[in-house]
Amino acid sequence: METRLIEAPASGEVRDYKMLVGGDWVDALSGKTFESINPYTGRAWATAPEADEKDVDRAVNAARAAFDEGPWGKMTGTERARLMRRLADLLAENAEELATVESTDNGKLLREMGGQLGALPEWYYYFAGAADKIQGETIPSDKPNFFVYTRREPIGVVGAIVPWNSPLLLLTFKLAPALAAGCTIVVKPAEQTPASVLEFAKLFEEAGFPPGVVNVVTGYGEETGRPLVRHPGVDKVAFTGSTETGISVMKDAADHLARVSLELGGKSPNIVFDDADLEATNNGVVSGIFAATGQTCIAGSRLFVHERAHDELVERLSEKARTIKLGNPLEAETEMGPVAFKEQLDKVQSYIEVGRQEGAELVCGGKRPGTEDLKNGYFIEPTIFAGVNNDMRVAREEIFGPVLSVIPFESEEDLIRQANDTSYGLAAGIWTRDIQKAHRVAHALRAGTVWINAYRTLSFNTPFGGYKMSGIGRENGLEALKDYTQVKSVWVELSGQTRDPFQLG
Ligand code: NAD
Repeated sequence: METRLIEAPASGEVRDYKMLVGGDWVDALSGKTFESINPYTGRAWATAPEADEKDVDRAVNAARAAFDEGPWGKMTGTERARLMRRLADLLAENAEELATVESTDNGKLLREMGGQLGALPEWYYYFAGAADKIQGETIPSDKPNFFVYTRREPIGVVGAIVPWNSPLLLLTFKLAPALAAGCTIVVKPAEQTPASVLEFAKLFEEAGFPPGVVNVVTGYGEETGRPLVRHPGVDKVAFTGSTETGISVMKDAADHLARVSLELGGKSPNIVFDDADLEATNNGVVSGIFAATGQTCIAGSRLFVHERAHDELVERLSEKARTIKLGNPLEAETEMGPVAFKEQLDKVQSYIEVGRQEGAELVCGGKRPGTEDLKNGYFIEPTIFAGVNNDMRVAREEIFGPVLSVIPFESEEDLIRQANDTSYGLAAGIWTRDIQKAHRVAHALRAGTVWINAYRTLSFNTPFGGYKMSGIGRENGLEALKDYTQVKSVWVELSGQTRDPFQLG
């Protein structure tokens, strides 16, 4: 029988959320709350507690107690896996409602969120499968009287901070390996989108997790996120967000030497050679920059096109961009929803102005749509700039919106130099029918993920993360477990004899 714990929001409803600390649903100690705005209507649809340092302290202490004293710390990997599989089942049973909550909160298409939420249980199944395989090694000791082995132990309390663009997906990238490893967690969702994480948190008790294993505090970056990073009880910070905030997180974590993994921004090159299948390429480029209204860290925002394919591809792309259907993210035929919040819309618009002033050629878009049905939402047209060079700000800075910069190139060497000439290194796409060239270029690119004749695909079993200023550490795949565990070496003396105490043995 299906367990429905989550309800999709009804039109006009305003929900008042509490946060989860030590197994209890609580308000902020100050009693303060903040609003979450639906970006399609521009109206508040939920409120959440505005946590500060004291609330964070309470949550970290609950996570610490669950780790040090509760039943969780004594569970075997097999037992943890059982709870994780139950969580995955509950997630699958409530995926549709959760997708609607997330779309209402951040304006992403329900058709994208539905797919995303539908796939999320796989992360928990995959890492549940790994939970009883987190093992150490027996070291062949160089000293005959010693037996030496290692244990791979959970790192402890994890502070997980996520942004607004895909809250549950990005949280799951952290939570699934953290739970498999035996850590406890305090989550802070973004202030723009607290709701889906709070709804998801309802599933933990039902799945049978002991109180305090997963805690959620909601609030702003400076008042809630920062105290979480700085808290001495946090052993590791798993952060996804902008590069600028990531740098501050790393500095704050350094004060108490908390481990960090950082998934940060990108300015990913999508590269088209003149032998590419232009129809497939066109589709891939659109998915890279206009899907999710361009609000993804892996957006293929710099389009490098060989000069022989340039004019034809730009023509096809702008034809496609002009017909993209903007609208209500909850409707099935909508292809592009609004930008998630007002400040983000202002940022995207200011970059379009920057592109114009830098002399880039505006091929299509650039405006807010004028139609009546879209006037309340934070909409912006799919926008393409041609004639961009790699030194312009629209080619160097992350816009995080549906704005494509097209840069022509002449040769493979010229392309590799320009594609790598960026402070970021999250992802890249290569479109060509030449298999040798495809691999050659994939190896030369300094990016954590490279797609060949594809764009924007991820999986629970494939490591994901950034080179350079796009981040530190890897999420997904067995690689991710390394970030949530630490290694202990155990030396066992076998002979029972005493030795010279003044010699290093
Ligand atoms: P942001 O850095 O402003 O905020 C992200 C989160 O950090 C929010 O929860 C925020 O409240 C919190 N925060 C803000 N200041 C903080 C501080 N001083 N200490 C601790 N926490 C703090 O990011 P954003 O602009 O909301 O999100 C978009 C960014 O996220 C883009 O740069 C995008 O590329 C990046 N992103 C990266 C990935 C990835 O996997 N690499 C995925 C999605 C988004």
